[in-house]
Amino acid sequence: MDQKQNIVVIGGGLTGLTSAYYLNKKIKEENLPYQVILVEASSRLGGKLQTVYKDGFIIERGPDSWLSSKTAISELAKDVGMGDALTYNTPGKNYICARGKLYTTPGGAIFGIPTELMPFATSNLIPWAGKIRAGMDLFIPKTKTDDGDIAMGPFFRRRLGNSLVENLIEPLISGIYAGDFEKMSIMATFPDLFLKEQKYGSLIVGMKAGRKPAPKPQTPTNTTGKPKGMFLSLNTGLESLATAVEDKLSEIQILKDTCVENVEKNNDHYVLKLSNNEVIQAQSIIVTTEHQSIPKMFSKYDFLNFFEEMPATSVINVTMAFKKEAVEKDIDGGSLVVARTSGYNITSCSWNHKKWPHTTPKDHVLMRVYVGKSGSTNEDVLKLSDEKLEEIALNDVSKHIKLKEKPLFTVVTRWKEKMPQYTVGHKKRIEELKNISSEELPGVYFAGASFEGVGLADCVSQGKQAVDKVFNFLKVYNIVKN
Ligand SMILES: Cc1cc2nc3c(=O)[nH]c(=O)nc-3n(C[C@H](O)[C@H](O)[C@H](O)COP(=O)(O)OP(=O)(O)OC[C@H]3O[C@@H](n4cnc5c(N)ncnc54)[C@H](O)[C@@H]3O)c2cc1C
Repeated sequence: MDQKQNIVVIGGGLTGLTSAYYLNKKIKEENLPYQVILVEASSRLGGKLQTVYKDGFIIERGPDSWLSSKTAISELAKDVGMGDALTYNTPGKNYICARGKLYTTPGGAIFGIPTELMPFATSNLIPWAGKIRAGMDLFIPKTKTDDGDIAMGPFFRRRLGNSLVENLIEPLISGIYAGDFEKMSIMATFPDLFLKEQKYGSLIVGMKAGRKPAPKPQTPTNTTGKPKGMFLSLNTGLESLATAVEDKLSEIQILKDTCVENVEKNNDHYVLKLSNNEVIQAQSIIVTTEHQSIPKMFSKYDFLNFFEEMPATSVINVTMAFKKEAVEKDIDGGSLVVARTSGYNITSCSWNHKKWPHTTPKDHVLMRVYVGKSGSTNEDVLKLSDEKLEEIALNDVSKHIKLKEKPLFTVVTRWKEKMPQYTVGHKKRIEELKNISSEELPGVYFAGASFEGVGLADCVSQGKQAVDKVFNFLKVYNIVKN
C-alpha cells in the first residue's frame, strides 16, 4: 500500500462518486499501483442527491429523475447493484400556465418549437398574432453571431417572436437550468437547436427534419403495468444511489467533513492542503466541486479566476404531503410550468404521486412546487420562513385545484446559488480552461455540473470521462518517467 501513488477526487457529489467508483474499479481489475482518496467538505456523500424518507413518502430535495435516453447514470446504477430500483415515470398531461390559465403543450412542439401546423394553429396558448409571428421563422435569415454563441432569449425571440418565447419556450426550457433566458448560452445548453437553425435557416424546418418517427404505442413497465414515461428515477430515492456507490468504495480512503483548501503543483506531483491540517500528495486529481470553490483551492493559478465571475442562481422547492381526501377538485395532469405572463410566485408544480407513484403511500397526495422566479437570484424569497413559502405555494396551486385541508407536512429546501449558469461563451471558456490546464496543471481534470452539463446523466458521463483522462495521463507520465 505504501508504494501506491494517490489519485485524489475532490468533491463527493454524484460526479465525484462516479469518478471514485470507476477509478477504483479499474485499479482493482488491473491491479494498478494507485489508490483513490475521495475528499468531501460536508459530512455526507451525494452532494445534491438528497432524499427525505418520512411516513412512507419519498421526497427528493434536489434532483428527482433523468432522461432515460441518457444512459450513463442508469449504467452506474446497474454497476452498483441498483438496476432493480430503476423506475420510469408514469406519463400524464403536462400543462403550461399562461396568462393565469392552463393549456396543454401543442402536439408536435419540441422544446416549444412548433413542428406541426394543426395542433399549433388550434391551440389557444398563443394568440393569433403570436402564431403568425412564429411562422416568420420560415423567412428570417439565419442568426449571425460574433463568436458562434448567443443567449437563448434574443435567439428565440428573433426567430419566433415574444409571444411564443414567453408563453411556451421559456417556461419549458428555463426551468431545467433555473436560468436567465436573456443570458443563458444556447451553445452550452441546447447546441442542437442552434446548429439546426444554422443548417436549415429555420428552427421550424430544422426541428421538423430532425424529428424522430412517432414513438411506438407505450409498452407497460414490468413492475407497475402502467405506461412508461421518458424519465427514470430510483424507487428507493435518488440518495440511495450515492449510498450504493459509497458501499462499493470500502477499500478507498474517504475523508468527510474535510475541505481541500489549497492545491499546488510540486515537480511531478500535486500537494493538497486539507482543512484538517493534513497534507496529501497526488499524482492526478479530479475536481468535481461547485465552481465557486475552485479559485480558492487553486489560488496560485490565475487562469481559474474566471470562476469567481461565473453566476449561479438559487431555487427553493416546497414539497407538500396530503391525505387524498384533502384534494376536493384535482386536474387531470402530472405537472404544470408557469409562464411569466401569469404573474405567479411559483415556477412549476409536479403531482409526484401521479408521476412517481413510488414516492407516495396509497390514498395520499404529494406535490412539489418550485417557488420564486426562474433565472432570478430569488434572494428575497430565500429569506422567507417555511410557513410563508408553503402559503405562497398553496396560494398559486389553489388557483387550479381545490384543497380543503392543510398539508400533513411540508418539506422546504433552499438551494442558495447552487444552480450553475452557463452564460454566453461558457463552452469556449471551458475549452480554454482545458487547454491551459493541460499545460499548467497536467493530470488535473474538472468534471461536474459547473462545466459540461448540469444534468445527473451529464455529471456521470463527465465523471467517467475524467477517469479515462486520468489513466491516459498516468500511462504517458509513467512512460516519460521510465
Ligand atoms: C433543486 C435541484 C433540482 C435538480 N433537478 C434535477 C433533475 O431532476 N435531473 C437532473 O438531471 N439534474 C437535476 N439537478 C442538477 C443536478 O442535481 C446537479 O447538477 C448534480 O447533482 C451535480 O452533481 P455534482 O457532483 O457535479 O455536484 P454536487 O452535487 O454539488 O457535489 C459537489 C460536492 O463538492 C463538495 N465540495 C465543495 N467544495 C469542496 C472542497 N473545497 N473540498 C471538498 N469538497 C468540496 C460539496 O460539498 C459537494 O458535496 C437539480 C439540481 C437542483 C439543485
